[in-house]
Amino acid sequence: MQPPLNIGIIRDERFLKHQTGLSHPEAPQRLAVVHRMLDYDFAASFSERSAEPATLEQVEALHTPDYLRMVIATARRRFTNLAADTTASSDSCFTAFLAAGACIRGAREALSGDFQAGLALVRPPGHHAQPAKAEGFCILNNLGITALELLRQGLKRILIVDWDLHHGNGLQKVFYDSPEVLYFSSHHLHSYPHTGDWEEAGEGAGEGYTVNICLPPGADDNDVVELYRQLLPPVVERYQPQIILVAAGFDGHRDDPLSNLSMSAAGFGALGQLLADLGPRGCGAPLLLALEGGYDPTDLAECLRRILMAWQGDSTILDKASSERGAEWAERVRMVHRRYGVWVD
Ligand SMILES: [Zn+2]
Repeated sequence: MQPPLNIGIIRDERFLKHQTGLSHPEAPQRLAVVHRMLDYDFAASFSERSAEPATLEQVEALHTPDYLRMVIATARRRFTNLAADTTASSDSCFTAFLAAGACIRGAREALSGDFQAGLALVRPPGHHAQPAKAEGFCILNNLGITALELLRQGLKRILIVDWDLHHGNGLQKVFYDSPEVLYFSSHHLHSYPHTGDWEEAGEGAGEGYTVNICLPPGADDNDVVELYRQLLPPVVERYQPQIILVAAGFDGHRDDPLSNLSMSAAGFGALGQLLADLGPRGCGAPLLLALEGGYDPTDLAECLRRILMAWQGDSTILDKASSERGAEWAERVRMVHRRYGVWVD
């Protein structure tokens, strides 16, 4: 049994107002089911706070003025397509600012010691959003905006772990030449957006500070947890992040409608436990998970429940997992990164 962490949740009914259309997988129901899970399974166990919108200045640090004008204009229409896969209703612009602001608030409160591990239960998601365009259901790049705000406030080393099924192409692009944000992503290469190959490791001063792991179809809990258990401890030990942000997508769950991985809620619980052991219980860096994908609401809620259980001290999750495939992929990542000497020699 690990010591329980002080947990903070950022939860706000206004995130349900972002409407995406009748058959869109990124639907308000996702969060409604998560809220119900919190109320039934963890009644009043955590300190909950509402969100506040990011300021225009904070959002402009990442997104271009022309793009933001386009986003703001969506508030005047019932429905707008910002990209082929990304729709906006009249409330979506405000909700997107609220999602970025929720992550900033969560990071700020985690850093000030209000909690050790937090969940920002936001939508729309953010990790695909580019400086000048929406894509992949993402309007504003929530964690990118948060990291830029933290750098503006003086932080020097931010670790972003992205375990969504899809590569966070927006996050990678923004920080590709920066050593101040280490971006670590595992994803399925042959899914949208088809970026994040093994060799993509950063450029200029950022060389070695982008870590990409391409998972094959069918990668399961043991594979992914083995991989993370081999790679993340040296990353955290050498980089000494001041905060760990997680682009927490759960669309790698085997029953997710978009999935081609074979993970279960237990695997995501184990990842949440590993990060808690390395961050708040290890080097002392606070941990903030921001919701990205995950399109089966029941599975999404179960994944988050397992993570919260791990943070409360349940250490029974996948305790004895190991995987030869996971170890092979970890070695492939080390081979790419030895030449940079950032976290492995
Ligand atoms: Zn995804």
